[in-house]
Amino acid sequence: MVASNLSLEDQIDETKEAEKSAIASKSLSSAIAKNFPNGFIIVFNSNFEMLLLEGEAIVKLNLDTMVFEGANVDDIPVFSKKQKSKLKQDVLKTIAGEHLRFQIKFRNLYFSVNTIPLLGDNTVISSGLFVYTDITAQKKIEREDKNALKKEQELNELKSRFVSMASHEFRTPLSAIQTSAILIGRQNEAGKEQKREKYVAQIKKNVKQLVVILNDFLSLSKLGEGKVIANKELFDFVALSKTLIEEVSVTKKTGKNIIFSSPKKPISLNLDSKLVRHIFLNLLSNAIKYSPKNTDINIKIEESTFFVSLQVQDKGIGIPKEEQDKLFDRFFRAKNAQNIQGTGLGLNIVKQYVELMDGTITFTSDTNKGTTFLVKLPKPIKK
Ligand code: ATP
Ligand code: MG
Repeated sequence: MVASNLSLEDQIDETKEAEKSAIASKSLSSAIAKNFPNGFIIVFNSNFEMLLLEGEAIVKLNLDTMVFEGANVDDIPVFSKKQKSKLKQDVLKTIAGEHLRFQIKFRNLYFSVNTIPLLGDNTVISSGLFVYTDITAQKKIEREDKNALKKEQELNELKSRFVSMASHEFRTPLSAIQTSAILIGRQNEAGKEQKREKYVAQIKKNVKQLVVILNDFLSLSKLGEGKVIANKELFDFVALSKTLIEEVSVTKKTGKNIIFSSPKKPISLNLDSKLVRHIFLNLLSNAIKYSPKNTDINIKIEESTFFVSLQVQDKGIGIPKEEQDKLFDRFFRAKNAQNIQGTGLGLNIVKQYVELMDGTITFTSDTNKGTTFLVKLPKPIKK
């Protein structure tokens, strides 16, 4: 009787000890789970019920563990249908003994997920542990690296295009200058002034061409650095257009018939006249450059409620349809323009200037029929 009593007490003690250590181990594992750093863990059973959901990221994700614990995946409202079906498949695979490894995005956070099959009392897998580690910061760095690499590649591409363009476009004027200089050297006796003057004029013309190219580069780098600001001032767009057409007709032997039409009255714009001048001259010089002699170039100015439009129309070589989407790209030159001098920078700059003044630029073009550019610039707001 005494012996059996003792053993009963022993048994009670042992059970108490076991209980204590079970409680200790449970509180230990739940403490680990609760503080699971930089992520969270979930335990699923084979009925897709969440037995446990703990971890630091729970707070970050603004999730209420009370709603989730014990709930079936199908009944969790924050998961989409697709997410639920994937999760259930992963649970099944894990309980079948697979260790899965993948990444997911949930509420703007990225997680790397590892799944581990868990053994139950009878050493049979009864549940699956899903460990979610927050990798959002790493992802951000990865993305930044990728962007930096892309930028560098673009810059390299731009550099190599510049080198090939520059070697082509600089060579012609430079060799013309050299030839003229040599010829001047040979014509240094008296009476050859006229010839010398002709060669000096050649040199001047070619230097001017080089300066135009270099200025375009300067404008581009200024635009790239955000250093071009539109300095607004009031000016008459009709008068400016007339002056520019006059300038071009006198200084260049265009061989074209420039037809200008506009409303009879002045049109006042409150924009940067230097930028408008640049846009106008570029479109006009393209129209001249890319159309045959003795054809008409039509320049039309119109006014609507909010915009003033400038239309520059030529009857030239046109832009091949398949290349039109690249027209405003830096260094773009169409196939049918390869034999005509140009850097492919003009329209890129024009577009940036137009947009700097809140305007738009569009075009229509047919090969061998002609091209029409349409620029719309905002009218001053009347107070
Ligand atoms: P740049 O103006 O810098 O001297 P470019 O004229 O070649 O050189 P853009 O003015 O940017 O450069 O024009 C880009 C390309 O678009 C041209 O090379 C040409 O192929 C095509 N293009 C532009 N305007 C016309 C036009 N009016 N008619 C036909 N093609 C044109
Ligand atoms: Mg041009």
